[in-house]
Amino acid sequence: MEGRNAPAGTFGATVTVLVMYLGWYLVTVTILIFVLARTVLVTVLAGAVLAVVAVVVLAVVVVLAAVLFVVGVAPLERASPSETFAAVVAVSLLVDVLMTGVEADFVVLVPTSAASNVVELVVGVVAGAAAVVEVVAALDPQPATTTAAASPATTFGMREFRKGYGLGMSTIIASDERRVIDSVPHRLFIGGSWQEGEHGTFEVEDPSTGEVLAQVADSSPADALRALDAANRAAPEWAAHPPRERGEILRRAFDTIISRADDLALLMTLEMGKPLAESRSEIVYGAEFLRWFSEEAVRIDGRYSTAPNGQGRLLTMRQPVGPCLLVTPWNFPLAMGTRKIGPAIAAGCTMIVKPAQQTPLSMLALAKILQECGLPGGVLNLVTSSRAGPVTAPLIADKRLRKLSFTGSTAVGRALMGQASETLLRLSMELGGNAPFLVFEDADIDAAVQGAVLAKMRNVGEACTAANRFHVHESVADEFSKKLAARLGAMKLGRGTEAQVEVGPLIDGKQRDKVAALVDDAVERGAKVLTGGSAVDGPGYFYEATVLGDVPDGSELLSEEIFGPVAPVQSFSDEDGALADANASEFGLAAYLFTRDIKRALRVSERLESGMIGLNQGLVSNPAAPFGGIKQSGFGREGGPEGINEYLETKYIAVNMD
Ligand code: NAP
Repeated sequence: MEGRNAPAGTFGATVTVLVMYLGWYLVTVTILIFVLARTVLVTVLAGAVLAVVAVVVLAVVVVLAAVLFVVGVAPLERASPSETFAAVVAVSLLVDVLMTGVEADFVVLVPTSAASNVVELVVGVVAGAAAVVEVVAALDPQPATTTAAASPATTFGMREFRKGYGLGMSTIIASDERRVIDSVPHRLFIGGSWQEGEHGTFEVEDPSTGEVLAQVADSSPADALRALDAANRAAPEWAAHPPRERGEILRRAFDTIISRADDLALLMTLEMGKPLAESRSEIVYGAEFLRWFSEEAVRIDGRYSTAPNGQGRLLTMRQPVGPCLLVTPWNFPLAMGTRKIGPAIAAGCTMIVKPAQQTPLSMLALAKILQECGLPGGVLNLVTSSRAGPVTAPLIADKRLRKLSFTGSTAVGRALMGQASETLLRLSMELGGNAPFLVFEDADIDAAVQGAVLAKMRNVGEACTAANRFHVHESVADEFSKKLAARLGAMKLGRGTEAQVEVGPLIDGKQRDKVAALVDDAVERGAKVLTGGSAVDGPGYFYEATVLGDVPDGSELLSEEIFGPVAPVQSFSDEDGALADANASEFGLAAYLFTRDIKRALRVSERLESGMIGLNQGLVSNPAAPFGGIKQSGFGREGGPEGINEYLETKYIAVNMD
């Protein structure tokens, strides 16, 4: 991928210097043409000289660009900023000297243009210097210590950078890792205070090394019930709390998260493994839910209408559901929390949050930030635990709990629904996926490959929206597969904190072994390995980015959620066949569709059995859009204007007007 090469801006920015020079000197020549045209006596002479000069200018620029490309660019990739600065200044000076010499002839020939030439020369040099400064600023410093990876263009992080969050680069050293881990309380957060867990502590591991990062409080069922007590106590006041203030707490939390994004990203990469640039993207994405719902807090409305018979009035209002249990997975350690916590706070609900045991640190950091931002004690309670079932079961059975919002696997979601049926608990279920990725024969294949890289490789393939199966028209399947294999095969694998790494470890050994078994099954059935295909020996839980071609029907990875960096490709011959393949799954979370035909795009979108569709793009997640699935991917929507409804009840008052 491009992300492995030199900083993408180096060559472009350096050539910018040359192009600016070319521009300025062509402007000079143009002005001279006008000046000379007015000087009848020298018209003939000037015309000849101008032709020669124009050729010289172009030749010098072309030769310099060629020299820079062949000789200069490769050293620039390895050069330090100061060496690069010197190289670019030298090139700039060379151009200056040559051009000034050429211009001197004109100054002699046409004295009237001397002043304008001098002015332009000065402006050109200043512009050139500014470009040189830009080149140096754009360079990625390569210090001896490990450096944060540049955000690959294929992650949605680039978009956030363009939006101006400017999270910047930072040098990561071991002491930073310790500092960010130690900056987070490792205890339970109940009723506004940090407390020990009755069951001692459990270990949080770095999936890239298998080493223990931290010991975190392990709650007992009694701890969890104390958290429910606190949530229940705080519920009436919080429901009546001014919506504007609820929103402002969320907004302050958004600002605080963005201001600490580098540290939070490092913390997330350490516990979850994904590359630092992707963690930064999740920090921004996760924070956006708080900003979005800070704005929604003051838009909770009702309705006043006249009864159809004209006699009564119909009044509706929306009120907070009450204490909620929010259970989140490890794959997006922050965003899966903010997607629930944001609307719950905005709606006026109190809550108990239970993060995944593999990644509790990001959620602990969020709880601390919300506390700092003025969230009253008891509104958000956090219980970390190594035994999810025993800790959540008494909460689900308790009649004081009014809602369960769960994000995780379909199997666990199904079990929790069974428990919730006892109290008819209100539910939101964000469950597993098995997204099909359709490429029709009229698609822009390069764009489809780009989308496929994003849809497959974001989060190391461990996303519920990850493209799980690629169904490609038979006329372009070979081209698509080869191009995708080239892209994935070039991705650098390593610890997420290392520079340029785009494929981090999987979350644990169990997940890596599952991915390996799915690939082995497909290969045994006849699939061709186009790139990758193996687990990586050594510490950590790494699996190579893999593309499998000609995957036979019946291969387990077509029906199972892979949750790893593996792309199986199958071909289809017509639209109906493509749709049949796409819908042949019990899941219905996300789907992707690449075609240039708008009628086909809409026709196929209407028939795809999925809650979300990426049309000619490999990413669907957006805090302003309703995220959620159908079929066994669950129900309920998070984000968008719909998201807050999950935390509100509608009450109707029949008004007698007689
Ligand atoms: P998981 O095993 O279902 O765990 C999810 C959460 O549920 C964790 O906090 C886990 O705690 C807890 N949990 C596990 N067993 C439980 C039980 N018996 N009772 C109560 N809580 C229990 O899922 P995961 O492996 O963390 O996450 C991956 C899955 O989540 C994938 O299927 C993925 O598609 C899905 N996902 C869906 C969405 C979506 O929006 N639809 C988003 C992200 C992920 P422990 O960590 O302690 O086990």
